[in-house]
Amino acid sequence: MKKINIFFFLSIFLLVSCVASKKSTPETGLHEHESGQTGIGTVQYPVVEPPVMVHYEGRILHIFFHPLVARPETAFRSRFRDHFLEWYVTADEYKKILYELYINDYVLVDINELYSVSHIDGIKRVVSQKPLIPEGKKPLVLSIDDLSYYDFVRRYAGVHKLVIDKRGNIAAWTDNDDGGEISYDLDVVTSLEEFIKKHPGFSVRGARGIIAVTGYEGVLGYRTHELDAPDYEEEKENAIAVVNKLKELGWHFASHSWGHPNMPNISMTWFTNDTNRWDREVRPIVGDTDLFIYPFGSGVEAQEDRHRILRNHGFNVFFGVGAGYTFSERQSYIYSDRRNIDGFYFRTFRNRADRIFDIENVIDEETRRIR
Ligand SMILES: [Zn+2]
Repeated sequence: MKKINIFFFLSIFLLVSCVASKKSTPETGLHEHESGQTGIGTVQYPVVEPPVMVHYEGRILHIFFHPLVARPETAFRSRFRDHFLEWYVTADEYKKILYELYINDYVLVDINELYSVSHIDGIKRVVSQKPLIPEGKKPLVLSIDDLSYYDFVRRYAGVHKLVIDKRGNIAAWTDNDDGGEISYDLDVVTSLEEFIKKHPGFSVRGARGIIAVTGYEGVLGYRTHELDAPDYEEEKENAIAVVNKLKELGWHFASHSWGHPNMPNISMTWFTNDTNRWDREVRPIVGDTDLFIYPFGSGVEAQEDRHRILRNHGFNVFFGVGAGYTFSERQSYIYSDRRNIDGFYFRTFRNRADRIFDIENVIDEETRRIR
C-alpha cells in the first residue's frame, strides 16, 4: 500500500510541475525565468531550465516591409492607391503578421551573427555563419526599405518621422492641426518594439531589423537632403540622435542608394555619383555599414566593374528580392535575397502551400476595399 501512495504523490507532483512550467511561459514557449511569489504558501516551483540553444543548419528566411500604411482612409483614396495596396501592408496587418510569425516559431536574428569578415594576406573573405537559436525555432531576418518617410508617404499614408519621446524611448510622430501626435503602434519600427516588449522570446540576443535608407528626401523623416536649409544642422543632429537610439535597441542600417535608381541600368557616371553622394550625405548620419540593399531588388552582381565600386565603398553583404532564402558566399562578399511582404505577396501566396504564414489571418479585406 505504501508503494502506491508514493507513486500517487509522485504523479501529483509531476502534474503540478507541468502546470507550473506552462504557467511560467504563457506564450513564448521558451523557458523564461519567473521569480514571482505564488501566494500559495510554501509551494516550491521547480527550477526552469533555459532553452537549449542549437546552431541552426537550415535555410534562413529574410523578409522585408516598406513603411506602414497608418492611415488607410487617406492612402487608399489617394492617387497612390494602387501603389500602397500592392507594395505596403497596413499597421493592423503588420501587427497580425508579427504574431503569425511568432506563433509559427520564427525568431529574429541579428544579421551581424550570420557572417564574418576577415582579411588573410590582404585578401578579404566574407563567410557565412550558422546562428545560435533556441531549439525548435526558425531564424528570421527582417528589413525595412525606404524608411525615409518620403513626401507622398507622409502626405497620404504613414507617420511623419521617428522621434525620441519624453521618457527617452523611440516613438513615431505625425503632424496634425494640434501640433502633432505621438504613436507607438502605427509605424514599422515602433510596432516591432511594442511586440518584442510583449513577446521577448521573438528576439534572440536583442536582435531587431535592418533599416535601409536613401538620401534624396532625407533620413527617418528629417530633411537632411536640404543641405543649405537654415535648420540643416539641427535636422541632422536630431536624425543622428534617433539613429543612435535605434542602434542601442539593436537595429542596423543599410544603404539603399542615395536616389533609388535602377542600378544596373543607369550610366556609370550616375552610378558613381549616387554612391559617393550616399557616402557624403547619409553615411555621416547612419554611421558605417557594410550592408547594401538594392533599389527595386536590382543587383549589379553581373557587372563586376559596378560591384567592385560598391565593395570598395565598404559594402560586404548585398540584398536583392526573391524567395527570401538565398544567403550565398561569393568569396569577397555575400549575396542574399529577401521576400517582400505586401499586397503583392498576399495575392500571390494566398493559396500556396509554401506561404510563410496564413494570409487569411492577417489580410484586412474591408480596409483594402476603401475607395
Ligand atoms: Zn526601395
